[in-house]
Amino acid sequence: MPGPRKRAPRKIAVIDPDRCFGALACSICQAACPVADCITEEPDENGRLVCAVRIDACIGCGLCVALGNATAPQPREFGCPADFDAIDLVAFEEVVQTMESAGTDGDASVGITEPAGA
Ligand code: SF4
Ligand code: SF4
Repeated sequence: MPGPRKRAPRKIAVIDPDRCFGALACSICQAACPVADCITEEPDENGRLVCAVRIDACIGCGLCVALGNATAPQPREFGCPADFDAIDLVAFEEVVQTMESAGTDGDASVGITEPAGA
């Protein structure tokens, strides 16, 4: 497993909670992710557990992104099922700006979660 991230990545993964099949029902993204505890289970606005990406942990490798998703940086063996295609890689600065304008440290509604223990 890679160690703690040393600098901000160019892009990070963002999960659309409306497209996520359900954290405990699927979890393929968690299996694909090489960073420990990077993708966590969070309740969406209806209390359904969906996956969300820790903004402080994601290295932007794209291994969780669905096959065929144009935002992924390289070929990979599996990721979010193409039927759901719930994960996009998004520019890190854009994610930070979205969270700031939403007035949140992150939650499942924006597909990003806050650092563990924050
Ligand atoms: S891009 Fe996806 S697989 Fe890679 S570190 Fe981020 S959440 Fe994990
Ligand atoms: S792989 Fe996709 S559908 Fe499955 S839990 Fe992760 S984000 Fe949700």
